[in-house]
Amino acid sequence: MEFPFSPSNLPLQMFVNNEYMDTKNPQKLTLLNPTDGSLVSNEVPVAGQEDVDLAVGFAEKATRGWKKIAPSERYQMMMKFADLLEQYCGQLGELTRLTLGSTPAFNQFEGSTAAQGMRYNAGWIDKFSGETYPQDDGFLKIVRNEPLGVTAGIVPWNGPLVTVGLKAAPALATGNCFIFKPSEKTPFAALALGPLIKAAGFPPGVFQVLPGDGSTGAIMSSHMGIRKISFTGSCATGKKIQEMAAKSNLKRVTLELGGKSPAVIFDDCDIDNAVKWAVDAITSGSGQTCFAASRVYVQNGIYDKFMEKYIQGMKIKAEVMGNPEAQGTELGPMVDRAQYERVSGFIQRGQAQGKLLIGGPRLSDKGLFIEPTVFESPDPTSEIHTQEIFGPVSVVSRFSTEEEVMKLSNDTNFGLMAGVFTQDINKAMRIASEFDAGMVGINCISLMFLNTPFGGTKESGIGRECGLSALKAFTETKTVMVNLTY
Ligand code: NAD
Repeated sequence: MEFPFSPSNLPLQMFVNNEYMDTKNPQKLTLLNPTDGSLVSNEVPVAGQEDVDLAVGFAEKATRGWKKIAPSERYQMMMKFADLLEQYCGQLGELTRLTLGSTPAFNQFEGSTAAQGMRYNAGWIDKFSGETYPQDDGFLKIVRNEPLGVTAGIVPWNGPLVTVGLKAAPALATGNCFIFKPSEKTPFAALALGPLIKAAGFPPGVFQVLPGDGSTGAIMSSHMGIRKISFTGSCATGKKIQEMAAKSNLKRVTLELGGKSPAVIFDDCDIDNAVKWAVDAITSGSGQTCFAASRVYVQNGIYDKFMEKYIQGMKIKAEVMGNPEAQGTELGPMVDRAQYERVSGFIQRGQAQGKLLIGGPRLSDKGLFIEPTVFESPDPTSEIHTQEIFGPVSVVSRFSTEEEVMKLSNDTNFGLMAGVFTQDINKAMRIASEFDAGMVGINCISLMFLNTPFGGTKESGIGRECGLSALKAFTETKTVMVNLTY
């Protein structure tokens, strides 16, 4: 297969029913390259009501056949698609870099995780069993996991390809048709998936991609023909989607939202290990990751020693920030001017809430760069402590007792991830159970695995992705009762 897209030949159409088509909606978006401000395209399409209706209609038509297709065939298609994702990972990553400013290492991680997500979920196709219950009362009870029908994924700009592995994969493995809407800020890798979808053998209407912004997402969320939305993005949008789902057809909703994840560093930890994780956790993806360790609590006894090494680690990261195409670059720019200004605003206002130790916007550059930034702030009610900044910005505070730090850690509306650093296994396990978060790291933080549930408590979301949880979230149980006395 010849991969037809490149930075000079961008995918600028929707992919429906296994064909590229122009959107009926005339609206177009403009996208700039965040590394140098150059124009990437002013022809990025936005799917409107008619376009969404068309895709849903194709998916509805495909649903029956897809549900009935032999599991081995579905498996083969998903495995082939995974191979193609890997094969064209470089080209897809090039398309993402244009508007995300991501590094080749990030693009490689995205492509390979998406491929692994496909394989992991394909592996479940013939293993995702139902249940049976005792028949002593004369009735055999069988619980089946059935696909929902037409499902959709709406995703943010920071993981344009990895989210295909997290959302499309469990949806397709469980026999649903799936419509993917990438972010309006980073749409090109997803829009380029058409040839891969076709070459993998997915029947028309089974796996479609719609470009668009929040207006497209809102049409999908209110659509009577879509039975589930798997959403990743901000809390504000997640709440709107939940509301639209309730007001339309009560479609199922999974929400993977924001975070303000605490890293709790005790006196008895391995400092170098804690520093390494804490630095990586707030700088990976230039801090534009939902589970970034943005609050760091350090016990009094090692505070000065930890801070010296932490600041040093952040300085080293600042040195490898720059043009994502250049050799050795680990951190790219903020995704766009709006995000750059949002993060800069937090940093500017933060200087009245705490002491800025290092970092801030890099003004010497044409690109939208924010250097790894650390605030020391004792006020747990300040904006930099409580709001998700979504940039390479952390706030560090001291603590003295376990009780005090647990109160501080859990005193947030978010509950995505938390980490504890200590060599005392009893303390680690005690704290792991006390964190009000969907995921906890012991001597690690800000990481995920495809085979374990991923998601948050409180306003960090509803439901879980990955593992068996994702398959369950894309199915409905049906209880079949067999009268054995008849
Ligand atoms: P966003 O909520 O602005 O947009 C996310 C997606 O929702 C986009 O595709 C957008 O077009 C769409 N959208 C916007 N308004 C909509 C509406 N009214 N109805 C339906 N869809 C709509 O989020 P973002 O700025 O792209 O991403 C950053 C956010 O995503 C951060 O809060 C971050 O924490 C979160 N995030 C969470 C996870 C997770 O797994 N928990 C992972 C990555 C990012």
